[in-house]
Amino acid sequence: MTKEKEQSKDDEVSTILSDFFQFYIILLLSEGPNHGYGLIKAFKERTGRNLSAGTLYPFLHKLQEKGIVSQTDKPVGKKPRTIYSLTRKGRKFCDRLFSRFAAITASAIEPRLETCASCGVRIYEGGYHEVIDGQEMAFCCVHCAAAYKKEGESHNHAHHEH
Ligand SMILES: [Zn+2]
Repeated sequence: MTKEKEQSKDDEVSTILSDFFQFYIILLLSEGPNHGYGLIKAFKERTGRNLSAGTLYPFLHKLQEKGIVSQTDKPVGKKPRTIYSLTRKGRKFCDRLFSRFAAITASAIEPRLETCASCGVRIYEGGYHEVIDGQEMAFCCVHCAAAYKKEGESHNHAHHEH
């Protein structure tokens, strides 16, 4: 599995991130109801780490006591399975948790973000790169690149058409 190889290279990062296990569990539940085994599996996929049942279930019960999580038993095949899902209160809790988390990560991410050379927005994902006058420029989209080039051309002409 190449995925696991990549993960072992990044072992230090994984260790620290898996200490966020509570955060991960809530994040996973925010993506949809899940049973315990599903959470353990998803945790393993995301972090490359094992989450033991002895860690997971007491935490889920704590969340239930706080009214953040509710459980229902649904039959899966012949066996009933306990499905955990966020309550309405839990969703509100998630909003607060994620916006707090976003504020923390923004200060780590934003200085590393590129800025569109045309409109000045921060480029969070992908963006559009083009070499202009031998220099690689970053844009949020092709349209901004086109606008930038158009502006450059008009500056290059000595006479503006006014
Ligand atoms: Zn732009």
